[in-house]
Amino acid sequence: MFLDNDQLIAILNLTKNPISVHIGEDAVIQYANDAMLAVWGKERSIIGLPLEEALPEMKGQPFKEMFATAFAKGTLFTGTETPADLVVDGRLDTYYFDFEYRPVRNSKNEIFCVMNSAVDVTERVKHQQTLLHAQRDADALKKEQVMNEQLSAAKEILQSQVNISAKEASENAEQFKRLVEQAPVAITVLRSHELFVDIANAAILEIWGKEASIIGLPLAEAMPELEGQPFIGILQEVISTGVPFYAQESKAFVVRNGVLTEGYFNFICQPLRDGEGKINSVLQVVTDITKQVVSRLELQRTKEMMDMAIDAANLGSWQIDPITKALQYNSALARMYGYVDELPMTFDQAIAQVSVEHREMLVLNIEKAIAGGGAYDVTFTQRRFNDDELIWVRSFGKVNLDESGKPIFSGFVMDITEAKKDEQRKHDFIGIVSHELKTPLTSLNGYIQLLQRMAKKEENTMAMQITDSAVRQLQRMNGMINGFLDLSRLESGKLILDRTIFRLDELVREMAMESMVVDSTHPIEILSCDPVEVFADRIKIASVLSNLLSNAAKYSPEEKLIQIEAKKIDNQVRVCVRDTGMGIAPEHIDHLFDRFYRVEDTGKQVSGFGIGLYLSSEVIARHDGKIWAESELGEGSTFCFILPIA
Ligand code: ADP
Repeated sequence: MFLDNDQLIAILNLTKNPISVHIGEDAVIQYANDAMLAVWGKERSIIGLPLEEALPEMKGQPFKEMFATAFAKGTLFTGTETPADLVVDGRLDTYYFDFEYRPVRNSKNEIFCVMNSAVDVTERVKHQQTLLHAQRDADALKKEQVMNEQLSAAKEILQSQVNISAKEASENAEQFKRLVEQAPVAITVLRSHELFVDIANAAILEIWGKEASIIGLPLAEAMPELEGQPFIGILQEVISTGVPFYAQESKAFVVRNGVLTEGYFNFICQPLRDGEGKINSVLQVVTDITKQVVSRLELQRTKEMMDMAIDAANLGSWQIDPITKALQYNSALARMYGYVDELPMTFDQAIAQVSVEHREMLVLNIEKAIAGGGAYDVTFTQRRFNDDELIWVRSFGKVNLDESGKPIFSGFVMDITEAKKDEQRKHDFIGIVSHELKTPLTSLNGYIQLLQRMAKKEENTMAMQITDSAVRQLQRMNGMINGFLDLSRLESGKLILDRTIFRLDELVREMAMESMVVDSTHPIEILSCDPVEVFADRIKIASVLSNLLSNAAKYSPEEKLIQIEAKKIDNQVRVCVRDTGMGIAPEHIDHLFDRFYRVEDTGKQVSGFGIGLYLSSEVIARHDGKIWAESELGEGSTFCFILPIA
């Protein structure tokens, strides 16, 4: 029993994949199913018209030419993601198609029509265009999806072809065989319970790893490796029950180059009827998806490894939907936050636990990361849900695309409370020690000055020299302790400026003279000093100058010249300290003003803690000024700062 034309058309109309049939050099539309009419955005009335009359927007596009060539010369045209401009709902737009123009021949090898099958992939293409940075796994998944689409398209085309061919019963078998052999997908037809390989196209032979010589053999004989695998049973079952069988990602072992090899396949088994309408054969369409599955499995393994690492590091992981703000998190995060409720924690609940002083900053950073797609790395305090304990957390992440290409904001949190407490303890320690050292140091200073005076009186040159050195060392020590005290004041927000109006040029001279007294190893030249007044904290600016001068001496060989100048530039004053010492390599310049930063490869051991320039930069910044360094390795350095004039 064969279908008549009306039934055939009714079936074709049901298929979801757009199909049309064309004849002649004008590609006259013989047939188009509803899906194709929808793609074209046209009514059924266009059937019977030449292509460019039915779709005037096709003029200037290459499609009619392709149809004509396919019809006249038998050329097969295929394309993936091919753009076509179509007028749909009165609007001209570019759509994208995976398509095929296939010349169909009769038994005399004459072309009788050209069949157009197309998969509208516009959404996918547009999606890819906007999400250029889609992750690899998303890509692999998408390809698999396309494969599936092609597979089902192939199946539907095939079905319809079987039916079209049915019109000419005598030619049916031959024409069908030719069609299968030309098909771009892997196809085989197996007959009777023994599964004789009646037809096997090149694509399926490649998948099987066999030569065409196996055609005619029973499948079990052609492929002994199938023994113990379920496929022979499945195929026989389709023939005996007439129920089609579909498999996704089915694992199979095939012999390739003499080696039993594992592969993954999607396949369809479709029962076929013979001339009398009896099911005696099975048609199988196979797609090899080994590559995609393997890459996905690899990704899965990588992800599992990552999960293990996350667990081991006790990292909390989170994921936020940029639009709905739906929050997902792992159990480590729930533990860290002390979240014990049955219901999942919401984004708003999590934010509400953040300390008031950090909340706005955090929300702002989240919004910024979502809007700009940049990196996000914030440190803040929050209350634990269960015991209200204050904890420090560092949260970092970025916006990425998930498997389906949807943007998702995700990252990790770390509990850094212990590290913060350690830091705090260190600061407290430095603060307390420096404070406690101040008192004995002051008395020591007093005693030594007394000794100094006595030595002078007795004109004991030896004692005078020793006490002078002792005073200098005490001054150095005092300077260091003051630095530590300033640091701990700065960190606890207690560094307060005591501003007065004073002559900066005078302070510059004063500090240069003092420096020469304390450290007589380097000559200091005072260059031009423009008379200017500033409104600033005199003691703190003095400490900045002292730091720059002592660095210039510390990092220069003895006897090397140090120069200092103060220049008025518009309503600002620029002070520069220049030395001709060891200089600084370019990679360090930007970090010199960081806390505890020291250049370790200076060659000679110079004592210091790397806080002098950090404090200087903080002091200058609080005066609305700017500090910077210019240097050339081996040539010397210049440190300058600018302050506004009062
Ligand atoms: P410290 O001198 O205690 O190490 P500073 O904060 O004053 O700390 O200086 C930071 C670092 O900058 C120093 O360790 C040194 O490597 C570099 N540096 C500062 N001044 C100079 C200079 N004039 N010449 C060369 N290197 C310098």
